[in-house]
Amino acid sequence: MENLILAVDRAFQADKWIDAQAAMNLISRGVVQTSFGDTALVLRGGTNAITGKQSVMEVGSILVVDTKQYLVSDFAYAPYERELLFKRDRCICAYCVQEFKPTQLTVEHVRPQCQGGETVWTNLVSACKACNQKKGGRTPEQARMELAYLPYSPGRYEWLIMKNRRILGDQMDFLMQRVPKHSRLRS
Ligand SMILES: [Zn+2]
Repeated sequence: MENLILAVDRAFQADKWIDAQAAMNLISRGVVQTSFGDTALVLRGGTNAITGKQSVMEVGSILVVDTKQYLVSDFAYAPYERELLFKRDRCICAYCVQEFKPTQLTVEHVRPQCQGGETVWTNLVSACKACNQKKGGRTPEQARMELAYLPYSPGRYEWLIMKNRRILGDQMDFLMQRVPKHSRLRS
């Protein structure tokens, strides 16, 4: 799997992960202002008739794109995804506080669906099968089971970190500087 490039706008607000092809398209459209960070892509052009050397362009792992021509996604409404939920919770059961493999975890509705609980980031936690079964269709208060941590919607930068398994060092530094202090990614 190739490394992805982080596209950011002119205010250095991270936008999305793009692959090499998408990066080359943006460069050829002339909407890329600059790039920085570790070299993620080396573009080879034509050969210079005088020097006989091939032109080479190194593209950094973070690409600054002109936003007037490039839409910024709204991460406040990033939909819940099972795999990302377990990552948010670091694979720790919200009730017994033990660490599990993703395959051993279940998606737990804090306010159960049978009582009107919604399938949204702020009502979901990771729970082991035993704890999920024990709690059943009850709220934590009704089941007398205490939540070890509270659910929350990941922000833009947490979401970007969770979405990419192969983040380069400079990209991670850029993103972690912008992750809020309450994020469990910091623990
Ligand atoms: Zn458990």
